[in-house]
Amino acid sequence: MQSTLTKKQLGVLIKNRLSRHYGISAEEADRKQMYKTCARTVVEILSDKRTRYYQKLKDQEKKKVYYLCMEFLVGRSLKNNLYNLGLEKEFRDILKEWNFDLEELYEEEPDAGLGNGGLGRLASCFMDSLATMEYPAMGYSICYEYGLFKQKIVDGWQMELPDIWLPGGDVWLNQRNDLSFRVKFNGHVEEIWTKDGLTTNYSDYDEVEAVPYDMMISGADSEGVAILRLWRARDVDKFDMKSFAKGDYNRAMNEKMNAELICKVLYPSDNHFEGKTLRLRQQYFLVSASIQNIVSDHLQQFGTLDNFSEKVAIHINDTHPALCIPELMRILLDDHQFSWDDAYNMVMNTVSYTNHTVLSEALETWPEELLKQQFPRIYGIIQGLNEAYCQEMWNRYPGEWGKIERMAIMSHGQIRMAHLCIIGSSSVNGVSKLHSDILKSQVFSDFYQASSEKFTNVTNGIAHRRWICQANPRLTRLLDDCIGQEYKKDGRKLADFRRYSENRSILRQLRDIKLANKIDFSNLMDKKGISIDPHSIFDVQAKRLHEYKRQLLNVLKIISLYLDLKDDSNLDIPPQTFLFAAKAAPGYYMAKEVIRLIWHLSAEIEKDPVLREKIRVVFLENYCVTMAEALMPAAEISEQISLAGKEASGTGNMKMMANGALTIGTMDGANVEIFEAVGKDNIFIFGMSAEDVERKWAEGYAASSYYHNKEKVHRVVDSLRRGFNGESFDTIYRYLLVGDYGVGDPYMCLADFEDYLKVHQQLLGVYQDQHQWNRMSLFNIAGAERFAADRSIMEYANNIWNITPLH
Ligand SMILES: *Cc1c(COP(=O)(O)O)cnc(C)c1O
Repeated sequence: MQSTLTKKQLGVLIKNRLSRHYGISAEEADRKQMYKTCARTVVEILSDKRTRYYQKLKDQEKKKVYYLCMEFLVGRSLKNNLYNLGLEKEFRDILKEWNFDLEELYEEEPDAGLGNGGLGRLASCFMDSLATMEYPAMGYSICYEYGLFKQKIVDGWQMELPDIWLPGGDVWLNQRNDLSFRVKFNGHVEEIWTKDGLTTNYSDYDEVEAVPYDMMISGADSEGVAILRLWRARDVDKFDMKSFAKGDYNRAMNEKMNAELICKVLYPSDNHFEGKTLRLRQQYFLVSASIQNIVSDHLQQFGTLDNFSEKVAIHINDTHPALCIPELMRILLDDHQFSWDDAYNMVMNTVSYTNHTVLSEALETWPEELLKQQFPRIYGIIQGLNEAYCQEMWNRYPGEWGKIERMAIMSHGQIRMAHLCIIGSSSVNGVSKLHSDILKSQVFSDFYQASSEKFTNVTNGIAHRRWICQANPRLTRLLDDCIGQEYKKDGRKLADFRRYSENRSILRQLRDIKLANKIDFSNLMDKKGISIDPHSIFDVQAKRLHEYKRQLLNVLKIISLYLDLKDDSNLDIPPQTFLFAAKAAPGYYMAKEVIRLIWHLSAEIEKDPVLREKIRVVFLENYCVTMAEALMPAAEISEQISLAGKEASGTGNMKMMANGALTIGTMDGANVEIFEAVGKDNIFIFGMSAEDVERKWAEGYAASSYYHNKEKVHRVVDSLRRGFNGESFDTIYRYLLVGDYGVGDPYMCLADFEDYLKVHQQLLGVYQDQHQWNRMSLFNIAGAERFAADRSIMEYANNIWNITPLH
């Protein structure tokens, strides 16, 4: 990658900053000061680059995409930006002269954990691709004071600690006081008839100031810089001097507290709807500030809104920013006097929507009363959209009350945000082929029949430069030697690696690389007091803890192995380490019970000095992007075992395959496309398909029939009652057999259990044949060619946003 600064110039920049900020020399600085100074130096370099890039974009009058998302799981920035700027070597060399190790400075940076899991990480991977491919783009989110909680396990029970990222993380943020906007809440709306028709008057509202903090993300080996604009809420100066003077300090401060509460903390539930008022206020805060910003930027450049949808694409990542639809309507109607029909068409031609889940408990529905009270004007506009759409459907499907009721935005006092998104967008996409098909045939089938042209698919992808080139330098060197550098900018070129599938020397090198990465990871764990044998198989399930992801199924498999070994300690199986990493939402009891089960099972096995040489279970605390970057290169088995039809795509599956792990998984989400990419011989598929699952429910599912008829199921389930490490897991036992509806757990662990065991045994057999395993691993790395985020972004740009890169 190119670099534009010499080591010497860089040295001057850093020394000047050190002297300005701390009044010290490079030799006097401590590690933290040096990290911050390097970060600030990078920000300065990025600012120059950004100025040049944005001027070019403006000159070319390019159409721009604005990506709205409540979450961006950014992780660390220093390494990524140095790599993308092509300045890593220059930094490493100059720091070495002052006795600093760049890798150690990286460790000083806290993760920016402004997201829960896959959805937020996807948004971050997309920013990298947008910058690298020089698409005109900006991301919008909230500058949470606390990101996703830090996880601590105490005697098996998850505890949540606040994630204090801003000291250390704030060096990446540029405060833009010049660009603040006001967001209005509550109050009253009056409708007034004038000679020009109906107008509205909004009064008695509360105001909050939205102040942007920009985070810059450099493109890799490109002129591009993406901006992630994070909004912070600030009290508009309405300090109540009277109360203060009377000594009523609390009352005087009240207003301020309320404003700043909005961006205090990220809601920690993943794939689960939480209907809290503060969350709704966060959503509107993001949307209103962003849309005001987009409209005012457009007006500044073009002086008119008539060409708005030709120059602006607004993308909403899941329904969380859905209120941008009525908010843009509001601005067009109330501030710019557009007619209803013109405003609606303009909004629809601007907005596109990605659906991220089919889980019913994750679909957002807000009470009408709450919206009415919080944003009365927005509520009125949603009512208008609902009436107009129902009327249109009534004309199209006269008499079909049931259908129209199913499709309405408002029903039984609830607002269905997904319906608002579909009705207000020109494009609706799922995130894998299977998921998009399920949207069309099941979840949104009425809408698909009415407007099939809106529905499409864009399979997710990962920033392969971060997840291969930065996270796995050993593999990167091998790839560079074998297939050259082109794959870094064109992921499809990874397919060329297939040419080496019969090359024994390369296959041996793959083996050596994996072992070296496993040793690195074991050493990292050693520092935390966890001992792992790097010569055992690393079997990894790392993702949010959720019933549908079925960590419990993995645990049942391990228990089964454990019981086999207790019966016969001479059993001939290769040593295995089962690594779990997962945060549970704080209020998610069953998820926390599963963590407790993993922890106590681990403790029980540790007590047996013979057994623990064969199988060992490790729960890795506080899964985050930085841990993922260390874990993925060391993974050999990638557990992707959700109940078919439930995982929208998954991206952890892609990260692990790209690092040469083999997938054991169900035909769910993007696993289906991984299967297509590597072929049936290079993946371990088990269990029911999505169609099988549907059929099974229709036939009448009962977990107890597996319990009574299958000896291995019976034995494992019974062991939960007896428990591990002195702790019983009766609630899990009952969950599996009875569940909430008397038929067993809703994610059918027991139905897939035996097939899972069988395929896992096959996998262990293949592992004994090292040559064969390495070949399969190579086909997985090569097969990752289609899972680069660059490919996803190209599809969004060409088929949905209609944007082109900088010339
Ligand atoms: C990639 C990633 C995820 C998503 O993992 P899935 O297996 O796709 O659910 C979640 N958390 C972190 C930290 C990640 O890096």
